[in-house]
Amino acid sequence: MPVSRTELDAYLSDLLAVERFRDYGPNGLQVEGRGPIHRIVSGVTASRAFIEAAGDADALLVHHGLFWRGQDGRVTGWMKARLKALLLADINLFAYHLPLDAHAELGNNAQLGRQLGLQADARFGEQDLGFIGAAGAHTSTAALAAVVHAALQRSPVVVPGDGRPLRRIAWCTGGAQGYFESAIAAGADAFLTGEISEPQAHYARETGVAFLACGHHATERYGVQALGEHLARHFGLEHRFIDIDNPA
Ligand SMILES: [Zn+2]
Repeated sequence: MPVSRTELDAYLSDLLAVERFRDYGPNGLQVEGRGPIHRIVSGVTASRAFIEAAGDADALLVHHGLFWRGQDGRVTGWMKARLKALLLADINLFAYHLPLDAHAELGNNAQLGRQLGLQADARFGEQDLGFIGAAGAHTSTAALAAVVHAALQRSPVVVPGDGRPLRRIAWCTGGAQGYFESAIAAGADAFLTGEISEPQAHYARETGVAFLACGHHATERYGVQALGEHLARHFGLEHRFIDIDNPA
């Protein structure tokens, strides 16, 4: 039995508490396709490569959709190509940005924590998106970096702190380098996110709190997969995840 587009949209809005978030783009159904949905394909970003690879899907489920605040709104170039591929194939595009980062079980932060053996006991930062918890076995920055490398198959960019034993580790997936100061204020001895910008290296050196940039894409592969698997179980749908590698 397929699920209908409208039922899936309503279920996801409720599950991810979409209304609670102020975000940079629309969460939920971004491009309308066919009504009945049997097959879902999940991925990090609604890139053209991803859309083309997901050809037989009824619905795509992504973290980074097509529409963001600040775009000029014209359907030209890459935007035309992505939309044309979706519309010609009559595929639905569902996108969940901050609501997917934040979800306590299925979200990017919760699922990255699982990959790294970290469990949050508190939240911090804007809209409570940051996760923080006990360091557990990850008592040094080098040990934490090794765990990241093994779990994400990628070497993090590490700015060591002052070498203190790690007691509290904070993390926030994707481009959350701007959360570093609130992580420090929340008591972190190390902060892990996807990307680094120039100022964070200095903050790490001057506050003694280690900073690890582990890849925007690499840290955000897990939430959408967990969500797709959840939907497959809940509605009896087919689901697969397609990873389009990204060096960023
Ligand atoms: Zn992101």
